[in-house]
Amino acid sequence: MKNLELAKIFNEIADILEIQDIQWKPQAYRKAASSIASLSIDIEKIYKKSGLKGLDSIPGVGKHLALKIEEYLKTGKIKAYKQLKKKVPIDLAELTHIEFLGPKKAKRLYKELKIKNIKDLEKAAKAGKIAKLSGFGEKSQQDILEGLGMYKLGKKRALLNIALPIAKEIIQSLNKLKEVKSAEYVGSLRRMKETVRDIDILVISNKPKKVIQTFTSLDNVKKVLAKGPTKASVVLKNNMHSDLRVLKPEEKGAGLLYFIGSKEHNIALRKIAIEKGYKLSEYGLFSRNTGKRIPGTSEKDIYKALSLKYIPPELRENQGEIEAAKKGKIPTLISIKDIKGDFHVHSKWSDGSDSIKDLATTAKKLGYQYLCISDHSKSEKIANGLSESNLLKQIKLIKKLNKNFRGFKLLAGSEVDILADGSLDYPEKILKQLDIVIGSIHSRFKSSKQEMTKRICTALENKHLNILGHPTGRLINQRKPYNLDLDQVFKVALENKKHLELNAFPNRLDLSDTNLKEAIELGLKISIGTDAHSKDQMNYMKFGVATARRGWCQKNHILNTFTLKQLPKYFKKL
Ligand SMILES: [Zn+2]
Ligand SMILES: [Zn+2]
Repeated sequence: MKNLELAKIFNEIADILEIQDIQWKPQAYRKAASSIASLSIDIEKIYKKSGLKGLDSIPGVGKHLALKIEEYLKTGKIKAYKQLKKKVPIDLAELTHIEFLGPKKAKRLYKELKIKNIKDLEKAAKAGKIAKLSGFGEKSQQDILEGLGMYKLGKKRALLNIALPIAKEIIQSLNKLKEVKSAEYVGSLRRMKETVRDIDILVISNKPKKVIQTFTSLDNVKKVLAKGPTKASVVLKNNMHSDLRVLKPEEKGAGLLYFIGSKEHNIALRKIAIEKGYKLSEYGLFSRNTGKRIPGTSEKDIYKALSLKYIPPELRENQGEIEAAKKGKIPTLISIKDIKGDFHVHSKWSDGSDSIKDLATTAKKLGYQYLCISDHSKSEKIANGLSESNLLKQIKLIKKLNKNFRGFKLLAGSEVDILADGSLDYPEKILKQLDIVIGSIHSRFKSSKQEMTKRICTALENKHLNILGHPTGRLINQRKPYNLDLDQVFKVALENKKHLELNAFPNRLDLSDTNLKEAIELGLKISIGTDAHSKDQMNYMKFGVATARRGWCQKNHILNTFTLKQLPKYFKKL
């Protein structure tokens, strides 16, 4: 798939244009990039099927950009992009990944300190040169150094929305071979950890040679690092590593357990095996006395032989799951099939790329009973937040659209900024008319712990707020959570009967798995919202569900597993 490559180039073009103070064009490129990145189909397939017209119909693309995409698909290059890069020889894609650095600041750093890339940036920051620049100062330099730390972490660990499609593509290619009995992705990706270092694949086959040959010559392979009779290791085109292991059919269960991990979970399992007179390895479960294989080839069989209930991969972190499995108390985790709606999506009215009608159509296709439109509020100037009159117009439109639906309802919501003093960004007379109010922090991320906690708790005490959006504000690999007393926030939310969001956007996943576990243990309810800015991003729900599973959530903990009829119990205005 060339989708992500193209999105990256478009984003970079936008950055370079912005540096040159060109108006509007950067936004167009960015919008197209975001829509291309979230497409669930291969952009090449769209082009092959319907040519330029097909490309043109991608939201935010249009004729001009469709030509650029065509050029890239045909030649592997975009001429205009090359020329721009020559004009501005800064590695903006990398530099602007640092949370504090936008294109404008990067331009100043280039002009004044000749900083072209991350390496130059680190050198200058460590030498204290950035602190001396007017408008930057000691604090900014510290922010940059912190950002550099996060950036390095991100280089090592990919987000789920990057890793998962690649893994699925590899699996698909391998499963086509008649020599392959099964091919599965394993490791931390199978446990759906929020970031993964590499893509591990386990294949079951009696003919490993052919499997290894196919794997090492996949289109996506940039370099083969190692190639043996039953294993291989490669570097993929996006620089991620992928390791393949081939085992025999009788080794499947033990192999899956071993390679899915986690290491800590496996150590605990091996200890139980020893206590029972067995030996557990990636090849199977054996009697210590006779060396004979214990019958049974599935993961379930092995858990059973160890007197444990089956443990789903997402729980295998040695965080209490072994004890629960001993007592037969593994929870029935929430699954994507339980989801009946999405509480957090943005439309064209603010910074999304699709119309409310199109979003509703997608929701219905997903089998949802409801969809809450939650565009940004008026203070969000960059995100084109809705003025009061526009929000009222939107509510009217939603009511009108609802007249045509059967068994489906659009909910009129808003993602309302929580202002510095904890008040909400619309007056009471407006808030009153909304079905659901999500309150979110989008400014002053660096406030003190006390200030931030007070600000959020004040908002939670506002009778119009229903859900606290992305509660910790972290951006994975980019920004740390706010300085916040989360226990206090949970307590105040509980007292005021408010709900917490699990934002399913792959670089947020906020609340995190461990935060979720704490929240539901206290009795709080969780709303999973994709924060989709296009209809394709509504598919991010799967990352939310996976994180909820890692947080031990069951169906009854998650608000969007309830039917439309059940919702009024949790949202009074419905
Ligand atoms: Zn937000
Ligand atoms: Zn949002």
